[in-house]
Order: sequence, then structure tokens, then C-alpha cells
Amino acid sequence: MAVFSRRSVLRGTLGLSLAKSSAALAQSSAPALLGAAGKAFDTDVAIIGAGAAGLACARECQRLGRSFVLIEARNRIGGRVFTDYLHETPVDAGALYIHWSEKNPWAEIARSASTATVDSDSLPSGSRFFAADQAMEPPARRSAFAQFEGLLDTDKGVVPDVSLLERAGSDPDFLRSANAIGRMSVGDEPGRISALDYSRLWSGTDLIVPDGYGKLVAGWGADLPVKLNTLLSRVDYRDSGVRLTTSGGTLSARTAVITVPVGVLQAERISFDPPLPRETLSGLEGLSMGALTKMALRFDGERFGIDLGTDLWDTLADGAILDFECWPFDRDVMMVYFGGDYARNLAKQGEVAAVAEMMRHLHRLIGQNPRPHLLEGKLYGWSEDSFAMGCYSHAKPGLASARAALARPIADKLFLAGEATGGETPQDAFGGAMTAGGAYLAGRSAARAAHALMGS
Ligand SMILES: Cc1cc2nc3c(=O)[nH]c(=O)nc-3n(C[C@H](O)[C@H](O)[C@H](O)COP(=O)(O)OP(=O)(O)OC[C@H]3O[C@@H](n4cnc5c(N)ncnc54)[C@H](O)[C@@H]3O)c2cc1C
Repeated sequence: MAVFSRRSVLRGTLGLSLAKSSAALAQSSAPALLGAAGKAFDTDVAIIGAGAAGLACARECQRLGRSFVLIEARNRIGGRVFTDYLHETPVDAGALYIHWSEKNPWAEIARSASTATVDSDSLPSGSRFFAADQAMEPPARRSAFAQFEGLLDTDKGVVPDVSLLERAGSDPDFLRSANAIGRMSVGDEPGRISALDYSRLWSGTDLIVPDGYGKLVAGWGADLPVKLNTLLSRVDYRDSGVRLTTSGGTLSARTAVITVPVGVLQAERISFDPPLPRETLSGLEGLSMGALTKMALRFDGERFGIDLGTDLWDTLADGAILDFECWPFDRDVMMVYFGGDYARNLAKQGEVAAVAEMMRHLHRLIGQNPRPHLLEGKLYGWSEDSFAMGCYSHAKPGLASARAALARPIADKLFLAGEATGGETPQDAFGGAMTAGGAYLAGRSAARAAHALMGS
């Protein structure tokens, strides 16, 4: 999750400490999946998707001595953790923060790889606030944010399975807090988000990888064998094992771990025979994909008098929020964040229209035309990405049990794993959901479960 780190929300620092290659050499892009003749199955574990969950699953299979085939639809690994480059400037298009780093495996991986990380709280920060492009005083009751977060803290009391909006009640400050958390942390309108699901998320120290979280993940997975450009379209689990139809041929496996995003499953991009069990379907129905969206704007060195680390927060008339994060790591780049339906609509319009819209807002916020100084603008519209279908999952109000339903193994041989089931076990109540760390834990757990079910 992004923009508001849960930790910053917990401390009530609205607008501060914002939550805010390649590896493919060892990986083939010419899939050849058929296994050796005479074997009952081509492999022990078929792993679908080479994001954080799929890579962790593959690594664990390796450690356990299980054979696996890892397939990925894109031409790269890493999934929603992806470092893009504007000129030579790294920009994390998806995940940015190593959340709850005290127990997040990516923090340890960064340490082992001697990859530099910084505590997001140690970075320069400051905020300016706008309402419909007009400068305004900072919200009067910033502490309202902390108070509202208290209503979402299971340590302080029972959190009912209602929407964030309902939890906020009629207090305008709480409503503003719910709106900000919904759109900028979860990526959706607060009326669509289960407060209970949100309250279960882990918090802790958030680290940032200046060279790119995506670069770290892709580097870690670089030596794993992956079939890139290989799309799974059908899973047949009628008989023993699992038979998969992919754009690179068919593959049989004793078990399969499917790590594609929830949005991909909901869109029925993959068919199942027999159809997925009722419980799994209810899990899918209980979740939605948010639409936290990013844009990177690279300028020619002009800083418009804005200090390093400043966020320009603009709340539009319909409640949509824009965050222009200025010059992270002293780079000539502004990152713009927005979420919910506003983001979905803008992503549909495409990069040129979206960049133009942000430049119009920015012009009004800073009182001068930034256009002549813009060198490049890139939109990362995950809601329009057919291999993601959104940023990450959240439970709908009243349906906070959805993640547990989705995580149940199917027919003792099919496992759905990824950020949606993020967390080591259901007992952890999926506190790692929405995050790359949670996806890692879910992928690793699925490998262990598959291993246990296969026996020796
Ligand atoms: C804008 C944004 C900001 C975020 N910020 C943070 C953050 O700060 N910190 C954090 O921890 N998390 C953040 N996240 C969430 C994080 O990126 C995800 O939770 C995590 O990367 C999910 O990993 P995964 O392996 O479950 O799924 P993915 O990374 O989506 O991996 C699934 C893979 O399956 C592939 N696939 C899809 N369909 C098929 C198919 N039919 N056949 C074969 N392969 C297929 C996809 O291409 C993909 O590579 C953010 C995400 C976004 C979009």
C-alpha cells in the first residue's frame, strides 16, 4: 500500500512521512513447457505469476527440493513491484515502501544484497494544502486523523465490519480522514472499504529503497528460471494433478500456485474446470481492487521555489485528492498520486490526457506554468493494466472474511496466493495484505503447503 504509510497515519501526521533489467538474463522468453515423456507430471509445482509471491514460492520450492515451472505473462519479473527509469532516474511505478520492515522479508533481502534503504521518517518533509486548486490553511484538527485511526485500531476496541465512511460517522474531520485513507492508502472511495479489513493491516517502520524497490525484487529473482511472455488461460484440475493451458503450450503439475492478482481472477481471464468452489468465489466477490495511481513528471531542474520533500495536497470538489510529491531524493522529479474513481477515469483517458490534467492543476497550485520545464511525464495506470487490474485488494464492507475464503487450498492441489492473502497464515488475519512483503509470505506459505500435501 502506499501514500499514507499506516505508521504515519497511526501517528496522525497527515501529509507527512508519506507512505508513501534486468533480471531477465537468466530467464527465457521462448517458452517450451512440455515435460519429459514418460513422467506422470511435468513438474511438482506450477507457479503462475513472477511477482513477489511467485518468486518467493519458486525460491521456497528450490529450498525444499521440489521441481517447479514458473510462468509469467509479462516480459519481466516483479509484477506490481517495478522500477521504471525516466532518463536515468529510478522511479517506483508500483510498490515504494518496505512496510513493517521489522518483519518484512524484503528488508532482510535488501540487507543481504547490501542495497541501501532509508527510513521514510528520516526524509525531509513538509506539506502545503489546497482545496480545488486554492491554497488553504492546514486542516485545523490534524489530531483528528490520529483519533480516527484509533477507531480503526483493534487493540483499542472492536472494529465493526462496516465501511470506513460509516466508521467516520458525521464528524467532518473524521470524514476527511476516511476519505484520505480510502483514496490515498487503499486507493478507493471510503464507502467501499471494510474498516475491519483495514484495521488488520500490520504497521511498523517503513523503508524506502532509493535505487528502487522493483530493482531489488528483480535482482533477487534474477537467477530463477522463468518462462516470460507466457499467459495462463485455463486450469483443468478434474483428474489427478493439474493441467494448465498457456500461450506456450500445456503443462501438467502435481500442484499449482496461482499468484495472479485478484482482479485478473475476477475478470475471468483464466477459466477453471471444474469451476472454482463456492467458497473461493465468495472470497473473490468479497474483495475489490483499488486504483492507487502514480504519475512521474521529470523537469529540467526548475524547482518552482518548492523545497525538497514538500507535498502539495489538493482536494478537488468531488473529494478526489492529488498529492504532488516534490523532488524525492533531490531528483528533478515530481511524483503525483491519486486514487479511486477519479484515478480510474484518468487512467482510461491515457497518458497524454492525464499528464495534461496534472499540469493544469499544478499550474494553478504553483501560480506559474510548469509546461515549458517538463521533459517527460509518465502515467502508471495499474487499473488499466490487464495483468494487474488495479493496485491491490481490499475487502468490501461486511465481507472482511473474504481473504480467508480465498486462501483455502482447492482440492488439495490448487493454491491462490499473493498480496490478497498476504500474511504467513490465516491466524495472522492477513496483516500483510496489500503489500509486497505480504505477497512474499503468502507465496512462501503456498510452497510449503504444496510440499506438505505432496508428501515425499
Ligand atoms: C501504485 C502502487 C503502489 C503500491 N505501493 C506499495 C508499497 O509502497 N509497499 C508495498 O509493500 N506494496 C505496495 N503496493 C502493492 C504491491 O505492489 C503488491 O501488493 C505486490 O507487488 C503484489 O505481489 P503479487 O506477487 O501478489 O502480485 P503481482 O506482483 O501482481 O504478481 C502477479 C504476476 O502475475 C502475472 N500474471 C497476471 N495474469 C497472468 C496470467 N494470466 N498468466 C501468467 N501470469 C499472469 C502478472 O504479470 C504479475 O507479474 C503498491 C502497488 C501499486 C500498484
